[in-house]
Amino acid sequence: MNTAAENTALTSDPGLLAKAFCSFLPSDAVLTEEEDLRPYECDGLSAYRCLPMIVVLPDTTDQVCQILRLCSEHNTPIVARGAGTGLSGGSLPASDGVLLSLAKFNRILDIDLNNRCATVQPGVRNLAVSEAVEPYELFYAPDPSSQIACSIGGNIAENSGGVHCLKYGLTVHNLLEVKVVTIDGELLTIGSKALDNPGYDLLALMTGSEGMLGVIVEATLKLLPKPESAQVVMASFDTVKDAGDAVAGIIASGIIPAGLEMMDSPAIRAAEDFVHAGYPRDAAAMLLCELDGIAPEVEEQIEQVCKLLKAHNTAQVRIAQDAQERARFWAGRKASFASVGRISPDYYCMDGTIPRKHLARVLARISELSEQFDLRVTNVFHAGDGNLHPLILYDANASDQLERAEAFGSKISELCIEVGGTITGEHGVGMEKLDQMCVQFRTGELAQFHAVKAAFDPEGLLNPGKAVPTLHRCAEFGAMHVHVGQVPYPELPRF
Ligand SMILES: Cc1cc2nc3c(=O)[nH]c(=O)nc-3n(C[C@H](O)[C@H](O)[C@H](O)COP(=O)(O)OP(=O)(O)OC[C@H]3O[C@@H](n4cnc5c(N)ncnc54)[C@H](O)[C@@H]3O)c2cc1C
Repeated sequence: MNTAAENTALTSDPGLLAKAFCSFLPSDAVLTEEEDLRPYECDGLSAYRCLPMIVVLPDTTDQVCQILRLCSEHNTPIVARGAGTGLSGGSLPASDGVLLSLAKFNRILDIDLNNRCATVQPGVRNLAVSEAVEPYELFYAPDPSSQIACSIGGNIAENSGGVHCLKYGLTVHNLLEVKVVTIDGELLTIGSKALDNPGYDLLALMTGSEGMLGVIVEATLKLLPKPESAQVVMASFDTVKDAGDAVAGIIASGIIPAGLEMMDSPAIRAAEDFVHAGYPRDAAAMLLCELDGIAPEVEEQIEQVCKLLKAHNTAQVRIAQDAQERARFWAGRKASFASVGRISPDYYCMDGTIPRKHLARVLARISELSEQFDLRVTNVFHAGDGNLHPLILYDANASDQLERAEAFGSKISELCIEVGGTITGEHGVGMEKLDQMCVQFRTGELAQFHAVKAAFDPEGLLNPGKAVPTLHRCAEFGAMHVHVGQVPYPELPRF
């Protein structure tokens, strides 16, 4: 046991702390040189950057327990990191803290066909799970567009979604069990292979907790049988309103598509120029609607969807003729963020969710805000879930464009709250949306969130300063909690 003086010395001296880590980690798993720390300075939201004091790369659960124990004893902040593809600054390091990379936790531990589940380490890439179980005609449903790179640990921490989550649920609905290390270095097992568990639903609490309650070191995921048949319809529209209304129409009909995605005109053109997916370059908006199931069911639903699309004034409907064309239609959508990167030096990806019936009106308002802030915007999103991803285009090297992009983004978040939605659909709050949390929640609600955090991490060492704003910050921000239908800012429309 160290003395208080030794503890203080360790906390303030990165060299001493690194030495302590090296007593149980190989020296190449403890990084302290600036050039080694640099790759960890940000996630996908690169406008926020910070060099960590130390990066550690453990490869056993026991090492993770020891790292957390040491940080806890020495009052040192610690941030878990998966693949760093997050878009809200969730794995942004603390300058006086440790960055815990789970990159070496990259093994699929077990594929249990009898229970139709897979147990994986948190650093396993999302797509690697479906690839591993493909020979058994199974798949892992949550499929973020970043699935080629993002990790299962990051997916759980953000409760990630994707194209197929409309029908098959988000990460939280496809998770059976997690093993988590607490800030005290204790290993907890939460959930089980059984479909229900006694006690509070801590599995749901852990999912989407943005690395603030514990470090996930293992996860058991549900696997689903691959549908016998899948078919995708591409529909173009002359107005965004018609496309938005068609989404509401399809959902209202009782059909649950496997995916229902929407792209507006700039997004269509950017994707087509990049991927050559066969998209209609002159359309104002486009829907991709995937239906899956047994073959006769899919055929019947395709017919119904085509009728609904026509009733909503679609300009053109195309049904993918074979698996290659289906893959090409999706390739454009999956590469849409990358393709927008080709038409603008920088973009700021927003993430908010609204009731689907407001899609058309909210998109019209975003377009007005685009003119007001004098910044272009493209929209590509999970329309079936009402999960918007406006991409605000800006140039970080041009004076005040980043500030304008952030202010524009804040207005979009507040617009989502005002129509009864939320400030995040799947990218989390991270650093990015702390102020909007002050708008979405009352002081009492935020205080309860802090109480939950304190129950797991009394000293606030795990991913400090993220996801839940301090009440002091909200007071400084001068936020008003917004009720649905209430207009906090004169320029916001009443719905
Ligand atoms: C091009 C692009 C497309 C995207 N598309 C989607 C999409 O369709 N849907 C979607 O939901 N997201 C999407 N994202 C966002 C991002 O990929 C997801 O949030 C993803 O889940 C992050 O995983 P990661 O491994 O990169 O996590 P990181 O960015 O490393 O971390 C994210 C958060 O998880 C925490 N964390 C990571 N690992 C652990 C762990 N083992 N234990 C505890 N906490 C942990 C971190 O502290 C941080 O708070 C996209 C991102 C990009 C760049």
